[in-house]
Amino acid sequence: MPSNNVGSLIRRRGLMLVLSSPSGAGKSTIARNLLESDNQFELSVSVTTRPRRGSEIDGRHYHFRSRREFEILRDNDELLEWAEVHGNFYATPRGPAEKAMAEGRDMLFDIDWQGAQQLREKMRGDIVSIFILPPSMRELKDRLKRRAEDQEAVIETRLKNARDEIEHWTEYDFVVVNDDLDRAFTEVVSIVTAERLRRDRRPGLFDFVSGLMDEDLG
Ligand code: 5GP
Repeated sequence: MPSNNVGSLIRRRGLMLVLSSPSGAGKSTIARNLLESDNQFELSVSVTTRPRRGSEIDGRHYHFRSRREFEILRDNDELLEWAEVHGNFYATPRGPAEKAMAEGRDMLFDIDWQGAQQLREKMRGDIVSIFILPPSMRELKDRLKRRAEDQEAVIETRLKNARDEIEHWTEYDFVVVNDDLDRAFTEVVSIVTAERLRRDRRPGLFDFVSGLMDEDLG
């Protein structure tokens, strides 16, 4: 390939990858692995009114805000989507997501089905959504208990809500069953690889192909 033509292959539209699953299905681990192994991805850091867990850092895992602060952001149209999940409010800040899209960068959204629905409406072709299922409800419960960062009552609420979340699995482009973390992660990486290669995400292909056609073979 002539090197002056290869550069055009790099140019492409950003990908907005939405990962949803019931709590405890391994979505956060998969998201973390993806962010660590793929430096083209940036995490959309959500705003939440939920209390901070011991291991969480404000501004990195979430922007922890009071309900009043949340309402101000919402009323000022600074949230791309928002939803009530497990009795707390969660939202995607508008600014970073719109900036990433404008600059053609990839962004990862760890959000629930309500947020996914809203983003699909607003961003259409830029969204790729993956639903992660646990291998069984028993396993889901065990994982929530092992995590043990939440109170027993919170675990029960999350189990009840898991069923509501799973009901929306048909709205997603892809479904990954996390019975083996390595395999589930490999499947997510495969989806990302294929989606990045989609013709309609790669405007640079036009220059590349016209370069091919104009190539002087002597
Ligand atoms: P957790 O409290 O366990 O961190 O998250 C609870 C649920 O809220 C998860 O399913 C997570 O994906 C979802 N969530 C986190 N951030 C957002 C957000 O910005 N918007 C929406 N709609 N859901 C979110």
